[in-house]
Amino acid sequence: MSTYKNFTVETDADGIALVTWDMKDKSMNVFTVEVMDEIEAIVDATVADADVKGVVFTSGKSTFSGGADLTMIKGMFSMIVEEKVKDPANAVKKLFDAAGRMNWLWRKIETNGKPWVSAINGTCMGGAFELSLACHGRVASNAKSVKIALPEVKVGIFPGAGGTQRVPRLANTQDALQMMTTGSSLTAARAKAMNLVHQVVEPDQLIPAAKQMIKDGLKPVAPWDEKGFKVPGGGIWTPAAAQLWPAASAILRRETSGNYPAALAILKCVYEGLQVPFDTGLRIEQRYFTEVLQTTEAFSMIRSLFVSMQELGKGARRPAGQPKSSIKKVGVIGAGFMGASIAYVTAAAGIPVVLIDRDIEAATKGKTVSEGLVSGAVGKGKMSKDEGEKLLSLITPSPDYASLADADLVIEAVFEDRAVKKAVIEAVEAVLPEGAIFASNTSTLPITGLAENSKRPAQFIGVHFFSPVEKMMLTEVILGKETGDKALAVALDYVAAIKKTPIVVNDTRGFFVNRCVFRYIHEAYDMLIEGVPPVMIENAAKFAGMPVGPLSLNDEVAIDLSQKILKASIADLGEASVEPKHMALVNKMVDELDRRGRKNSKGFYDYPPKPAKKSLWPGLKDLYPQKSADEVNLKTLQQRFLTTIALEAARTVEEGIVTDPREADVGSILGFGFAPYTGGALSYIDGMGVKTFVALCEKLAGQYGAHFKPTPLLKEMAEKGETFYGRFDPYGEAQKAA
Ligand code: NAD
Repeated sequence: MSTYKNFTVETDADGIALVTWDMKDKSMNVFTVEVMDEIEAIVDATVADADVKGVVFTSGKSTFSGGADLTMIKGMFSMIVEEKVKDPANAVKKLFDAAGRMNWLWRKIETNGKPWVSAINGTCMGGAFELSLACHGRVASNAKSVKIALPEVKVGIFPGAGGTQRVPRLANTQDALQMMTTGSSLTAARAKAMNLVHQVVEPDQLIPAAKQMIKDGLKPVAPWDEKGFKVPGGGIWTPAAAQLWPAASAILRRETSGNYPAALAILKCVYEGLQVPFDTGLRIEQRYFTEVLQTTEAFSMIRSLFVSMQELGKGARRPAGQPKSSIKKVGVIGAGFMGASIAYVTAAAGIPVVLIDRDIEAATKGKTVSEGLVSGAVGKGKMSKDEGEKLLSLITPSPDYASLADADLVIEAVFEDRAVKKAVIEAVEAVLPEGAIFASNTSTLPITGLAENSKRPAQFIGVHFFSPVEKMMLTEVILGKETGDKALAVALDYVAAIKKTPIVVNDTRGFFVNRCVFRYIHEAYDMLIEGVPPVMIENAAKFAGMPVGPLSLNDEVAIDLSQKILKASIADLGEASVEPKHMALVNKMVDELDRRGRKNSKGFYDYPPKPAKKSLWPGLKDLYPQKSADEVNLKTLQQRFLTTIALEAARTVEEGIVTDPREADVGSILGFGFAPYTGGALSYIDGMGVKTFVALCEKLAGQYGAHFKPTPLLKEMAEKGETFYGRFDPYGEAQKAA
């Protein structure tokens, strides 16, 4: 048999060909055009070889496959863009064919006449699981690392290689819809319970069990190709389905507010596909897939949530020429709310941490946070007892700065107070080795100012975490004026080690994320002051695609923190830097009403003891004369939220704070959940076109205030017909160098 670049094929004495997928130049198997060509060649070769009785398909890596490759997806989008200019009708036809390639190749496996079994040895996602579904048998290892999912919806597309047709022909419709519209992962056991895999076995039994299925006479025919096949539950014309489908549409609407075309397409594919023969179902799926691929949502979500996120995670902003740093010990100063969790995520990455506070009691108390997180993870089976003990053994609480003498990186998370931070910087630098890096987790103090307390400002940087640290995926890395390349490289290597996504921004008050977040909250203040009913404010934000309403978010952040920040702005920048009505609202909430947010169970919401749920504080309506719901346009409220944030993101670019549009987009989604279907704050602008955005800003500025006025950069870009990704092309430098 011929040799392949990405596969080995070994046929045993029983005539079973073991196809092992192992891409030499990649850490994970992914689908490329070459991989699909080789799979097609393997199908042809095994069909033609009379000695081959059946095929077992597996992976030579610890994971099975993560699905499609970035370059293939990028290629598909550039193809659409180029072809649309040349010949629009042909562009869609080409896209239709490209979108169907995998679909019909998997169908070819399914109908090749010889039994195929997929042996799922590790995480199996997207197209790889769809390939497995086209095999006649599926065996999965029971290793904890095995996760099975069709997660496409999370990046704006849907399972378009037969997933929407095969899953609901195997599992019940409700489970099938839930799996695909949420993109959530299944364990091997759950996949078996859903009838999506046939067997779950010990890892070392995987290949023998898969081969045994063939030896036991596995029929090379999919259930839906057998005469008399019936969809589980009887299809869509049953009393149960009559109950399910209206509810499914309603739930989808509730969860997505109609913002996600791909999620809706899944419902359509399943509903329509289950009424027709299988091949027609595949064609329906191919049509919807082609349609969804052309949406702005798919384009922007794939770019930000798949391509850019991976690129930033892999160090797109890492300075060239800096050797990879080996971080053997990290010091965390301040074992409070943030420091305690920073110690946890560091130890979870296998890095020893010294956790320092003013005395051993405070430091030890900080470690109890990790103990709680570990015991929770062990309880849920997400961590073994041994792993938990190992993690905790890496955290050493101490009051003694001398233990930093061999640290490579120190992160301070002490009180947000310049004098306290100055004392800590000096104390740390007195013992820190020469080459080590000092990072501050400050959320409001500019890094350049703090670095003035340092003897080596080139080694001083901001590493800004978000709470809850163990859950939030984003870390903002802030460059002070004198921060050097080594500090940036070490910070990025550390962020990569703790498996978070970094964005690198220049120094400014509030950095990137908080500048945007406070625009969101301040717009809600404006609405409250105008008399918009609070419930409409919160709902409009959710319909716009924000995960948390602005009033609810402000309660989480704490209203007294908002007050502190507004006061600090006035002190540092003058009265004009703050809207007096905002200051008055916040002063009233905090000083008069003692409503500080969730922390004292009273904020814009009331927080009754559990299990009762929080609800908007009724007294809020008495603070300002209320408009009736009819006087408020919900759509305009939605636009105001997204526009004020996007405008702030554009300002950060104009000021040179954010230099790469990928970072504004990824930062806005991971940092505060900016309507993910837009692809992020700048993609929101690019998606509608800068000209349209400028017109929208002008309209809103006329009605709701000067803060909506478009900036000079935006006006210039509108005039020239530019986009952020065009003008600030993140690949420009690399392309020039290539
Ligand atoms: P916190 O009050 O919970 O913790 C601060 C800790 O620092 C306390 O344990 C205190 O004992 C300790 N400390 C004070 N002075 C010290 C000293 N001289 N030496 C050693 N330890 C000292 O505060 P926090 O919320 O964890 O915030 C810490 C930092 O993180 C601040 O700069 C804050 O702006 C920033 N931050 C906070 C958040 C948040 O959501 N709370 C988010 C991002 C960044």
